[in-house]
Amino acid sequence: MDYVKLINCMRCGMCLPACPTYKETFLETASPRGRVALVRKLQEGELDQSERLLEYLSLCLDCQACASACPCGVNAGELVAEFTCERKGEAGLGFMENLILRKLVPHPDRLEASMAPMRVYQRSGLQKLVRRLGVLKMFPKPLERMEGLLPALPSRPLRQTIQEVTPARGTERGTVGFFLGCVMSLIFSEASRATIQLLSLLGYRVITPRDQVCCGAPNMLGGDLEGLKEAARTNVELFGGFDVDYIVTDCGGCGAELKKYGHHLDGDAAAEFSGKVRDISQILALHAGELRQLLKPLGRRVTYHDPCHIAHCQGIRQEPRQLLKLIPGLDYRELNEADACCGSAGTYNIQRPEMADKVLQRKVDNIRRTGADCLVTANPGCLIQLKKALAADAQPVRVAHITELLLESFMVK
Ligand code: SF4
Ligand code: SF4
Repeated sequence: MDYVKLINCMRCGMCLPACPTYKETFLETASPRGRVALVRKLQEGELDQSERLLEYLSLCLDCQACASACPCGVNAGELVAEFTCERKGEAGLGFMENLILRKLVPHPDRLEASMAPMRVYQRSGLQKLVRRLGVLKMFPKPLERMEGLLPALPSRPLRQTIQEVTPARGTERGTVGFFLGCVMSLIFSEASRATIQLLSLLGYRVITPRDQVCCGAPNMLGGDLEGLKEAARTNVELFGGFDVDYIVTDCGGCGAELKKYGHHLDGDAAAEFSGKVRDISQILALHAGELRQLLKPLGRRVTYHDPCHIAHCQGIRQEPRQLLKLIPGLDYRELNEADACCGSAGTYNIQRPEMADKVLQRKVDNIRRTGADCLVTANPGCLIQLKKALAADAQPVRVAHITELLLESFMVK
């Protein structure tokens, strides 16, 4: 860990109002400033790694809202994540971690096969029966929670159905590579199909290499830096074999990780790869003038939730709003604390349900206050978390990926 990053904190406290866990607890130990101080003392050997201390650190969502607020460029979330990664790296991967991070996640075929029983469970009607009978209450809490969060799965993952080359409609203006995020392909395949369709409609030839692997974010989360580098090497080499102008993703988490490959790996190829990565909203915003002519009216009240990985990690805030405001007839309503975390944060909502629920409730209250009938966002974790939360009410709010809504407007007769 870079010690200089730790000593840059001047303890001003400007990050405190931005931190979701501080806003819920008002505890210094649950604030970015407190976390930087704890990691620093641990690095300096003035504190021992007690369970209680690690517990404080594990409450961090790694949402990086603190980094956006800090005038000194300190990123408490990243520092905590790096510290955790180093600590786990020293301890080595446990049996289950090794199984998930090395034997499952980097192999799309295995990952897809592992979801097949869930598809049968949902489609056979067993899920409805299990829920009605309350059987899940007999299972461990994390399992019950995971089951409750899982949205309806598509009949097949997008990776298995999308052609490797989608031609441009009309005059070709360029070629892009499309990065299929694991969760987007497995769960939100229709949103990614819409992304590819929009790119094609705007004149891009879209190459979706079938052999691409997970971006490596779960490895980073699990402290498996070597696993992350392995994933990065595979993707850099694979996409390097295609002559593309950009590498586009519609998954905020993947985009943030792909843009860091150049930092994780030595050599020009990784830096070149990262330099080409764009969130879909960045590409679409380049064609705002054209889209303005093509989009047709949608009479909806819409608000936008900034995924942490898009707003704080990639600094993208204007483009999604600009795109939504291009849709004629759309009543756009700005969301209070729009870039505050929704509590999903990887597997945080499973591992830290109490804090995740508090953070989520604040988000849901803010969304409901807008009066919107549709919430737009652009990250699978947020989609899962908010779909569940906003459906469970007398007045359900639709939750959509930004490309789904844009394509809908494109297709209106
Ligand atoms: S992390 Fe940044 S904003 Fe927070 S107390 Fe330190 S210097 Fe101030
Ligand atoms: S990453 Fe998020 S939860 Fe963690 S310290 Fe920063 S603002 Fe707080």
